[in-house]
Amino acid sequence: MAQILDGKKVSSDIRSEIKSAVSAFIAKGEPVPGLAVIIVGDDPASKVYVSQKKKNAEEVGFHSEEIKLPHNASRNQIISEIQRLNNNSAIHGILVQMPLPDQSDQQAVIEAISPRKDVDAFHPVNQGKFLIGIDSFLPCTPAGVIELLKRYLVEISGKKALVIGRSNIVGKPMSLLLLRENATVTIAHSKTKNLESEISDSDIVVAALGKPHAIKGEWLKKGAVVVDVGMHRIDDPNAPKGTKLVGDIDYGNYTDKLAWYSPVPGGVGPMTIAMLLSNTLKARNDLCRKTV
Ligand code: NAP
Repeated sequence: MAQILDGKKVSSDIRSEIKSAVSAFIAKGEPVPGLAVIIVGDDPASKVYVSQKKKNAEEVGFHSEEIKLPHNASRNQIISEIQRLNNNSAIHGILVQMPLPDQSDQQAVIEAISPRKDVDAFHPVNQGKFLIGIDSFLPCTPAGVIELLKRYLVEISGKKALVIGRSNIVGKPMSLLLLRENATVTIAHSKTKNLESEISDSDIVVAALGKPHAIKGEWLKKGAVVVDVGMHRIDDPNAPKGTKLVGDIDYGNYTDKLAWYSPVPGGVGPMTIAMLLSNTLKARNDLCRKTV
C-alpha cells in the first residue's frame, strides 16, 4: 500500500518551525524577516499566488509588503521599485510575480534584484552558485520536492530518478538537486523517445511537464516513488465550483503498487510556499550576520 507524500502537513510543520524562529527574534528585539512581492498587472492567477504568499508570510510573523504596479508599468518603473527594496533594510526577500505582462523585460527585472534578496533563486548569480554547489538560495519548487522526500526519509541515493521537464524553474534545478542527493538522473523532455519505457524503468519519477494527466499510472514501476509537480485547473461538472485541480499524473487505480506518491492538490504546491518562507528566513539571517 503506497504512502502519501503529504505536502500540506510537511509545509505546516515547516511553517511552525519558521514561526518559532520569528518568535525568538521578537523576544530578543531583533528584526523579523521581511518579504516584498511585486505584482505587475492584474492577471487573476498571479493575484491568487501573490495573496497566498502574503498571507503565509504574515501568518509566520514576517513583515510583508505587496507592491502593485499597473500592467503598462515600464521596465524602468519596475526596476526602480526593486532598487528601493534592495536598499530597504526591513526587506530581506524580494520576489517579482512571473510572468510579467511584457515578458521581454523579465530577465532584466530578475537581474535587478540583489542576489542576497533573491528568494526565488532566479538570479544568474544564485543559479551559478547552485550549479557548482556553493551555498545559495535554492529554487523553491524543486527544493520543496527534496524536502518532502527527506522529511519522509525516502531514500534517494543510488536510485534511478527520472525528471520529466527541463524548464529553468523546475526541471533543470530538480535534476541537479537529485544529482546532489546521489541519484542517477535522467531528464526527459518533449523530444524524448519512448517516455513510457523511461518511466517504467525509474525508481523515482518527478513529473513537471505541465500537461494535465499526461502520465498514466500503469506506466509507473512497482515500488516507485512518484512526485507530481503539475498543477492545472480543469472543468469538472461534478466538482462543487465546476472546476478542480489536477496534476500531470493520472494515477487511476495504480497507487497501490507505488511506495510513495504526492497528490494534487496537497503535494508539491504547499511545499513551494514553505520553501519561499525558508529562503526569506535564510536571507534575513545572512544579511543580519553581514551587518553585525
Ligand atoms: P514549462 O516551462 O512549460 O516546461 C515544461 C517542460 O516539460 C519542458 O521542458 C517540455 O519540454 C517538457 N514537456 C512538455 N511536454 C512533454 C512531453 N509530452 N513529454 C516530456 N516532456 C514534455 O513548465 P514548468 O514551468 O516547468 O512547470 C511544469 C508544471 O509544474 C506546470 O504544470 C506548472 O503549473 C507546475 N508548477 C507547479 C508549481 C507548484 O508550486 N506546485 C510551481 C511551478 C510549476 P521542452 O523543453 O522540450 O519543451
